Amino acid sequence: MLRIDNLVKSFAGEKARGKKKAQAGHTTVFAVNDVSFEVKEGELFTLLGPSGCGKTTTLRSIAGLERPDSGTITVGDRVMFSAKGASNRQVTNLPANQRGLGMVFQSYAIWPHMTVFDNVAFPLQVRKRSERPSKAEIEERVSRVLETMELSEQAGRQATKLSGGQQQRLALARALVIQPPLLLLDEPLSNLDAKLRESLRYELKRLQRELGITSVYVTHDQVEALALSTHIAVMQAGSVVQLGKPREIYETPANKFVAEFIGTSNFIPGTVRAREGAHASVETVNGALYLESAIDLPVGSEAVVSIRPEAVQLSRESRPDAANEWHGTVMARAFLGDAVDHVVAVGKHEMRARVNPSVSIEPGTQVYLQLDPAKISLVPVG
Ligand code: ATP
Repeated sequence: MLRIDNLVKSFAGEKARGKKKAQAGHTTVFAVNDVSFEVKEGELFTLLGPSGCGKTTTLRSIAGLERPDSGTITVGDRVMFSAKGASNRQVTNLPANQRGLGMVFQSYAIWPHMTVFDNVAFPLQVRKRSERPSKAEIEERVSRVLETMELSEQAGRQATKLSGGQQQRLALARALVIQPPLLLLDEPLSNLDAKLRESLRYELKRLQRELGITSVYVTHDQVEALALSTHIAVMQAGSVVQLGKPREIYETPANKFVAEFIGTSNFIPGTVRAREGAHASVETVNGALYLESAIDLPVGSEAVVSIRPEAVQLSRESRPDAANEWHGTVMARAFLGDAVDHVVAVGKHEMRARVNPSVSIEPGTQVYLQLDPAKISLVPVG
């Protein structure tokens, strides 16, 4: 449904906020630097990364609001943008209003002087005559979308009289009514309070499942990305550093940046001592560790072991059947409601362990840490 090939977009001159020096005293920042990915029909594909990594620029390029330097953007079988290089004269660049894509941005630009119904009907009414649906059809399509977004009762109300969550749903309804082949969403929930954000997250997921809309979603919120997406591209400094399903990215981060950005991890330096297929044995300062899924690093390589806090179990007694067991002392603990976080000193390192509240252990206690070999991953140094 969407294909991005080798997309590059730089900003030059005074406006560039980056530090990278280029020729003639100008500063050039590569907001998007050789990005490629593919989104299949029905997927909710998320661009995830910290502020300034190039997510919005990628999305705006797809929308036609930004002109890339080079690369290709194809939606279905329509080439939206294509240029081989900055100096290339053979450029295809469809204007935003001819791309027919749905867009919802952070600040939901609803029209305040219109009713809810008219806000949704407007994108259909302004179409040129040959493409405009009949009045009856517009009415039917708008009513159907309002029903899906659970806004039927508010149809006659002025848009500004809606709550924040309803206004955001209205913005979505307006994007959906044109039945776009692709829906582009840029942090659409970030202006809402935490509770509303969570409930709309579920609604978006429901919509995604029911309507099967192919969407590209931009967020810096890793929890939102994990909860919503069918696929995630993690971006760092203009590049995609890992592509995969939420679970793959969480459980087998490609590097330390991804492991740190998505969730919390314990990082321990080590050396690969033996390996067989995906299984590996790694020597660390705290002792040897056995891993069931490791990236392809040869024996002798330096690496970093990444252990999620929930992969660490704690017990007062040793468990001889555990694949990996270390010994330590509980230094602190924090109650999180559904879990208890422990800080445990192991040698010179501190390990975080997140366990069920029924296993909560008081500070000062000597404990055994069992490390689940299926939940430990190995990432390259740096
Ligand atoms: P955020 O989550 O903060 O919106 P982002 O990941 O979406 O960040 P972009 O907005 O795509 O990142 O910005 C990527 C880089 O390009 C940043 O260094 C930014 O400063 C720069 N940039 C973006 N737009 C412009 C512009 N119009 N002029 C100059 N530099 C820009």
